[in-house]
Amino acid sequence: MQAPLVDTVPGRYWHRLDDGRIQCDVCPRYCKLAEGQRGLCFVRARQNDQMVLTTWGRSSGFCIDPVEKKPLNHFLPGSPVLSFGTAGCNLTCKFCQNHEISKARQMDAVGSLATPDMIVQTAKQWGCSSVAFTYNDPVIFLEYAVDVAKACRAAGIKTIAVTAGYIGKDARAEFFRHMDAANVDLKGFTEAFYHKLCSAHLDDVLETLIYLKRETGVWFELTNLVIPGENDSDGEFDAMTRWIMANLGPDEPVHFSAFHPDWKMMDTPQTPAQTLIRAREIALKNGLRYVYVGNVHDHAASSTYCHNCHTRLIGRDWYELSDWKLDAHGNCTECGIACAGVFGPKPGQWGRKRQPVRLSAARQ
Ligand code: SF4
Repeated sequence: MQAPLVDTVPGRYWHRLDDGRIQCDVCPRYCKLAEGQRGLCFVRARQNDQMVLTTWGRSSGFCIDPVEKKPLNHFLPGSPVLSFGTAGCNLTCKFCQNHEISKARQMDAVGSLATPDMIVQTAKQWGCSSVAFTYNDPVIFLEYAVDVAKACRAAGIKTIAVTAGYIGKDARAEFFRHMDAANVDLKGFTEAFYHKLCSAHLDDVLETLIYLKRETGVWFELTNLVIPGENDSDGEFDAMTRWIMANLGPDEPVHFSAFHPDWKMMDTPQTPAQTLIRAREIALKNGLRYVYVGNVHDHAASSTYCHNCHTRLIGRDWYELSDWKLDAHGNCTECGIACAGVFGPKPGQWGRKRQPVRLSAARQ
């Protein structure tokens, strides 16, 4: 017998098919469900002839992280971010580095109650400037993420989506309308990579990136997890960064991040730091201004430089900030040229620490 569904809310993006099934339109998987079935993400289901989300108000845990961990290097640097996820995922990445969460099948086992109000109260209590939907992809819990984001906006708190950008056209318009910033994984730059390792399609992700750039005001940065032997050729770095330059422009920050063996790719070695350096050099040669390495210690390649006079604007090692050469408006203090991004008058002081937290009680 099927387990009863709890914490369900109506899904917003689906339609009926002629054959009696209903199709979820939240992401390009377009799962087609008979009564009682769940989609690939496991958190959307057909119940009483409707599509529902089964994880509204449920979280797999909360931590306060530096914004640099999302990673976002140009969005309120140094600030603390209340971060959480739920369960499930709409991709099947064999290299998933959060698989305990993304592959969780039973939300009851991992889910503690987290209403939008409780999340806002906790963010305020800890002085967090933003709340991040992360650890698993918020696209699959869109209705919940949007409700949390609305409560955050009402309280003056920003919202950050950490996502693979695998989202349907109508759903993305609503989802990103409520986000202030995003980090989008561009996992590789070949259809073969997406097909073999994520069972997804590259074009759908590229379409999301173009949408974000042209149709929204969301500040977004890209992360490319570099996996030895899978997406680490010079040709792929070159093609990817040329595409970014042509479609998203020189101010689009890119993070080349080191893979470590995980989930179903335990036999693949971790990424040599030199590979990340090579990727960064190719990206810079192709005209991108803000290119970073991640998951390794490299002060020079983790810092932000003025694209005009090359002053080190923000010194950074791992998630720790050092130099700060931006004025209150985000301009270089040496030459006055603007650095792309969203900056406060001063850097945040959160540092690199990671603080697990329990949620505050809801406001009465
Ligand atoms: S959100 Fe989930 S149910 Fe909907 S199409 Fe994507 S994987 Fe399928």
